[in-house]
Amino acid sequence: MPRPITAVIHRQSLQHNLNVARTKMPNSQVYAVVKANAYGHGIERVYQAFKAADGFALLDLAEAKRIRALGWTGPILLLEGIFSEQDLFDCQELGLSFSIHSEYQLEWLARFPLNAQFDVYLKMNSGMNRLGFRPEQYRQVWQQLSNLPQVQRLTHMMHFSDADGERLGRDGIEHQCQLFDAITHDLPGARSVCNSAAILRHADLSSDVIRSGIMLYGSSPDFPAHTVDDWNLQPAMSLRSEIIAVQQLKAGDSVGYGSKFIAETDMRVGIVACGYADGYQRLSKTGTPILVDGQRSHLIGRVSMDMLAVDLTTIPDAGVGSEVVLWGKSSQGAVLSIDEVAAGSGTIGYELMCAVTARVNFVQD
Ligand SMILES: *Cc1c(COP(=O)(O)O)cnc(C)c1O
Repeated sequence: MPRPITAVIHRQSLQHNLNVARTKMPNSQVYAVVKANAYGHGIERVYQAFKAADGFALLDLAEAKRIRALGWTGPILLLEGIFSEQDLFDCQELGLSFSIHSEYQLEWLARFPLNAQFDVYLKMNSGMNRLGFRPEQYRQVWQQLSNLPQVQRLTHMMHFSDADGERLGRDGIEHQCQLFDAITHDLPGARSVCNSAAILRHADLSSDVIRSGIMLYGSSPDFPAHTVDDWNLQPAMSLRSEIIAVQQLKAGDSVGYGSKFIAETDMRVGIVACGYADGYQRLSKTGTPILVDGQRSHLIGRVSMDMLAVDLTTIPDAGVGSEVVLWGKSSQGAVLSIDEVAAGSGTIGYELMCAVTARVNFVQD
């Protein structure tokens, strides 16, 4: 029998979450962001649910090819654009849209054979200072692109640095919107500005194409300000395992490497077949929530490579073979949000779902 750890991908939850994005911004085209192998869920595993989207957005040509191989004929957007001049041939052959964020990409495009008809997203750097043209350059680049015969369609694109936070004014989302609008308002073409946080928190924004990522996978982009329940999102991934041993501790006994947890009273401890080599964060603190037989308990001691320990004090019926949910849903439907678990190691749901390792068996329900 294989080791009992399993990542279950819930197709209905993926569908539900996609509908939440649609309902929030009903006049927008919803692109499903499936970079990083669909945030760790597996492109092939999410495709059935997400083919109801209007497009896919991702980073790699290899991932774009996988989507085409599944039969998708609609739009695919390369969020970071092309990485070499050669990539343009793949974009042409596969019918991919791409962003242009830097001068060198513009030069590659201008040199490309004239028979191409690309769908280009011109990216503005509105304050994040990662990718894009500065507002004062933007109109000139837009003009250059408009004049290229290789460009069939141009969409204005921008990415928020603070859509999940409280920064609204001078440096935050309002400022970025104002800049973007001031520069683009009289230019033709569609606009694409919203990520998940903007879709959920600022649904009044105007964005013809929205790029929903994390919300589709059932994690709240602005936890703890809002939980998945607040946003009506369902976990799309459940990391489940089992208790494989039970230890009866006496007061003063310790658990795990470094003896970081010391029992204050006699207590029962379950040893779970899950460790950092499965993608569970090693830096998770004692107290990080865990479900055992659908009931809430918590991690104790240090996470090791293949195992971790859970407090069974309040779950006397639990024992070897009991179901353990590290995040997601129990088989009986109890939910532990990935955001709460991520907080236990000072990270975010995004990182946990992307970090599940290859040795974990993935299944779909
Ligand atoms: C990853 C990404 C998104 C999706 O962001 P979420 O916070 O996961 O919704 C949108 N746009 C760009 C440019 C991205 O890189």
